[in-house]
Amino acid sequence: MNSAITTARTVGDLRAHIAKWRKARQRVALVPTMGVLHEGHLALVSLAKSKADHVVVSIFVNPIQFGPREDFKSYPRDEAGDLKKLGDAGADLVFAPDTAEMYPQGFSTQVTVGDLTEDLCGASRPNHFDGVATVVTKLLLQCAPDLAVFGEKDYQQLLVIKRLVRDLNLPVEIMGGPIVRETDGLALSSRNGYLSPSERKTAPLLYQTISAVAADLAQGRGCDDAVVAARFKLEAAGFRVDYVAVRDPDTLKPLSGPVQRARVLAAAYLGKTRLIDNVPVSPKT
Ligand code: AMP
Repeated sequence: MNSAITTARTVGDLRAHIAKWRKARQRVALVPTMGVLHEGHLALVSLAKSKADHVVVSIFVNPIQFGPREDFKSYPRDEAGDLKKLGDAGADLVFAPDTAEMYPQGFSTQVTVGDLTEDLCGASRPNHFDGVATVVTKLLLQCAPDLAVFGEKDYQQLLVIKRLVRDLNLPVEIMGGPIVRETDGLALSSRNGYLSPSERKTAPLLYQTISAVAADLAQGRGCDDAVVAARFKLEAAGFRVDYVAVRDPDTLKPLSGPVQRARVLAAAYLGKTRLIDNVPVSPKT
């Protein structure tokens, strides 16, 4: 195992490394992250490795995607641990710019994706997706990869990125990787470390509940009933529910009545920690 990994801090340095690979006609994949890497991130690195000759992982806690009352300052960071994990995972290059490199004095451009960002996480986190779309556009232009890999964990984000790449004709393939979970079903997240021991015990109920909704929908139950029951169950267990929703898996438009293909998405707080999760609904076979 190789545990030493090269780190680029500037766009110039990043491009110099990538230019060598391009000259050799090798394929490059990018995996954008905010660090404090876990098995979910590392699974995206493996997926990227299986599709490209070189994998670049960016680590950047993007200030402009956090709201004023959100956890930007306290968001966990562990660069030394991340570099070790990425070296062991066989990534080729880390891009870890500082804020001034990404947003120099006078930075005044924003990428906004409409439609898909209007509700779900977009409703409760105003400007969040503008921040995500702006930083991802920058990363894609800085790195110019053939492929970029994002997790289905942030399902709405994945669709937003696919849309922006399509709308702006960015020459990159966007690929989604499946959600990696703890053995009790909780989706891995850098924010899970915020949970107290008792919140951690309750947390898997989010996945169990939306999985039950998906199973009910697959049996022909109507969306509205299933969603109301799920919300009630989560609130009774101590969650403060932001949303439980059944949506079209491509457009995120609301669905009602019995459904065929759908995605069940939820966001809920346990104490101060906001958890999100989602599962597919597949038609009865
Ligand atoms: P983050 O560091 O939270 O910004 O996440 C970086 C990337 O990893 C995003 O594309 C996330 O969707 C993805 N990701 C985060 N958690 C998981 C997980 N449990 N399984 C799969 N992908 C994940």
